[in-house]
Amino acid sequence: MQAYQYLAGGEWLDTDEHLESDDPYLGAPWALIPRCGAAEVDRAVRAAHLAFTEGPWSRLTATGRGRLLRRMGEVLAANAERLAAVETRDNGKRTGDILPGLTGGLRDSFDYYAGLADKVEGTVPPTGRPTILNYTTPVPYGVIAAITAWNSPLLIAIQKLAPALAAGNTVVLKPSEHASASTLELAEVLADADLPAGVINVVTGLGAECGQPLVEHPLVRKVSFTGSAEGGRAVAMAAAANLTPCTMELGGKSPQIVFDDIDLDAAVFGVAGGIFPPSGQSCIAGSRALVHESIHDAFVERLVEVVGEARPGAPTDPGAHYAPIANRPHYDRILGHIAAAVADGARCVAGGGPAAHPDGGDGWFVEPTVFIDVTQDMAIAREEVFGPVLAVLRFTDEDEAVALANDSLYGLAAGIWSADLARGIRLAERIEAGTVYVNNYFDACPQSPVGGFKASGYGRENGIAGFEEFVQTRSVWVDVGSRPEHPFPPA
Ligand code: NAD
Repeated sequence: MQAYQYLAGGEWLDTDEHLESDDPYLGAPWALIPRCGAAEVDRAVRAAHLAFTEGPWSRLTATGRGRLLRRMGEVLAANAERLAAVETRDNGKRTGDILPGLTGGLRDSFDYYAGLADKVEGTVPPTGRPTILNYTTPVPYGVIAAITAWNSPLLIAIQKLAPALAAGNTVVLKPSEHASASTLELAEVLADADLPAGVINVVTGLGAECGQPLVEHPLVRKVSFTGSAEGGRAVAMAAAANLTPCTMELGGKSPQIVFDDIDLDAAVFGVAGGIFPPSGQSCIAGSRALVHESIHDAFVERLVEVVGEARPGAPTDPGAHYAPIANRPHYDRILGHIAAAVADGARCVAGGGPAAHPDGGDGWFVEPTVFIDVTQDMAIAREEVFGPVLAVLRFTDEDEAVALANDSLYGLAAGIWSADLARGIRLAERIEAGTVYVNNYFDACPQSPVGGFKASGYGRENGIAGFEEFVQTRSVWVDVGSRPEHPFPPA
């Protein structure tokens, strides 16, 4: 088995204990990752703090940081195949879903924030005071704790790293215990960008043992968290002890609304493509199809045909329609959601259980699954499954579609499928979601902010808003012409 070390202050270090990381295609462990606790976290945070306050990083100009970020993008692209192979091994995500991002949008992310680094300016507020010069400057926080989920560790880490570093912070990354290897290897390859020691540190381990001491560390000045709503709540509460601010990128139960004016195949392909290819393991997976009643039956009939054509495959196989579930506990959880939906009276018309392993092995595949006769009170209409399970509901008019879409704790993303673009835009204004897609789904790029409404989180990643998460404002008052008068003048 491959044994990994954690990274603090430029040094790769061992822990006494390790955790096994599984290969979801084989259904067996392939790597050992360090089981970091409070002591290792403290070492990493102190190293990050030192790099922020003293080392060469603290003396770099914003233009200099931009230059380093550009170099990081080049190094990322040059090592893309190696990184994608590790991530595929560790979480079962199809290599074809990882690799283009590493050489495309994620490399662009470094370039985008490299360009922004020396273009974010302060202001000179019009105070109306003749002798006062008041100006504001954007100031980095210091040490950022970046805690990430297992479904897309590289993507999530880079979406945090690029703006955090562009703004001048240093970072301690804490990937998920279920898929830490690609983040550790990312940190290793980024050393080729000549980043000063301590600017990026990586600790690995369990949420309670490693994540929590990181969030609670007094030298951590901001937490950027991606994970479940439950995890986010625990992190926000722990951060509250030090009043440490957080950005929260959490889960969803995103609706895809299908109107009767859309070409049926386009709608079916769009809705199925909005959930099944990554086996539903995407935060924005469109896991609720709200379908106009007049086309409901035809839509479901065609959907079942299309879903029936999906074939599981090795995540390294470019022909695989879908790949395994990333880890065993999550596989069991998805099957539990399916059983609960059946018990609640939803009707399963496609899939409904484990899929046969393409090689007869032990990996964790779940069939793309479709439930109809779903009502709004059922768990399958309300809870995030984070798996290949689509709940189909009916609506009669626009108002009902909006009401159903918004009747959710979550508000991460939504899709609208309609030939009437005016309707698409009208509805986009009424849906409570951080991202709304009209006649497309899943697209993202570094220039456009993403994030949640309601229990899907707060704060944004990507875009200028993503940079602003990593700076605070300082307001400086300079008196250029008067001198203080005696504060207690004699009567
Ligand atoms: P999770 O909440 O279980 O864990 C996320 C991370 O938090 C892990 O690194 C974990 O170790 C850590 N953690 C857990 N408890 C902690 C605690 N008390 N203190 C500090 N750290 C703690 O989530 P997960 O199962 O890894 O990921 C799946 C979830 O992530 C889904 O809900 C999905 O929708 C969401 N997600 C959201 C986005 C987004 O951008 N909105 C992107 C990807 C995934």
